[in-house]
Amino acid sequence: MKKEIHPKYYQTDVVCGTCQSVWKTASTRANLRVSICANCHPFYTGEQRKIIDTEGQVDRFMKRLAVSQTRQADAARRKESTVQKEPKKKSLLKEIYGEESESQA
Ligand SMILES: [Zn+2]
Repeated sequence: MKKEIHPKYYQTDVVCGTCQSVWKTASTRANLRVSICANCHPFYTGEQRKIIDTEGQVDRFMKRLAVSQTRQADAARRKESTVQKEPKKKSLLKEIYGEESESQA
């Protein structure tokens, strides 16, 4: 092995942020932390429906969803409240041919 071209190799612990389990490994980085591991991942535990939310992503999504739903409801209300007004000017067809032209067309 050549000297001084290889990174430092640590015997270190890996810590899971969700279930706090610890195991040993060798790595070029010391003090590894993971957000999910095979002990607590729903795929391995069989609890497929359980959502593990360590970073608040589900909460943030729910907030955004609530905001967008209220905006959509407001927009729908505004659309309903705008009354369909009669056009100020008669249509050009009515002007030229009179009222009966509409029934013919
Ligand atoms: Zn874990």
